[in-house]
Amino acid sequence: MEQNQGPDRRTLLRGAAVASGAAVIGASAVSPAGASPTTSAAEPPMSFRADWNARPPSSPVQVLQTPPTHVVVHHTATANSTDHSLAHAYSLSRAIQNHPMDTNGWADTGQQLTISRGGHVMEGRDRTLQAIGDGHHVIGAHTADHNSHTIGIENEGTYSTATPPAALMRSLVDTCAWLCLVYRLDPQEAIVGHRDYNSTNCPGDKLYSMLPDLRRDVASRLREQLSHLGRVTGVEISLEQLPTFPDTPSSERVATFYHGPAVGEFDVSL
Ligand SMILES: [Zn+2]
Repeated sequence: MEQNQGPDRRTLLRGAAVASGAAVIGASAVSPAGASPTTSAAEPPMSFRADWNARPPSSPVQVLQTPPTHVVVHHTATANSTDHSLAHAYSLSRAIQNHPMDTNGWADTGQQLTISRGGHVMEGRDRTLQAIGDGHHVIGAHTADHNSHTIGIENEGTYSTATPPAALMRSLVDTCAWLCLVYRLDPQEAIVGHRDYNSTNCPGDKLYSMLPDLRRDVASRLREQLSHLGRVTGVEISLEQLPTFPDTPSSERVATFYHGPAVGEFDVSL
């Protein structure tokens, strides 16, 4: 996979430290030189918008200085491609961006992050990775009426009955663990499916049924990352220090398949 070209590891870990409230963690203490490459915490390999030749947003995206409270798992409702290449992943990102911009008049692609069936993780909406590194939140357009407090991950494919490829699930675990660390989220509370907020089948019955395992795997990974961060910085951070959030409201489930509402009347941006 491509390596970062945008915010570097130091920036991202500083974001994690700021978001975690571990005030004594300085950027110098978590420099790349101080991190073991075999146990490195935080961000998974990531492709930036420039990598997939993103179009600039038609109007500036909005960035909140508050972190999101939930990570929303989506499926793209596109074909379950057998092409797991990086080139295909970039093509996917471009297609996901073009459709809402050209058809719906949105400013940019709706979701903050995209994961291809080959497991390639890509920045979605403009300024997303910089905002994550800062512990901030780019308002997306993926979960109606909840875009101001949710960060969305689009997972390539249709998972009503099909099982996501292992490479995709590995990257989804990595990505969710990274987000939970940066934003200080309890994975058991924070990771939800699109259908938990809107009337939609998204992310498909199969992927939705896998969310309990995803939360468990992310919690395990997060404990490893917190342990690593503690070793690097000398500051112990436990899962118990992470805040919890109110129960996620459930919504009615509908039988008709479609991706589901992405923008509602209470959202401030498209
Ligand atoms: Zn969705």
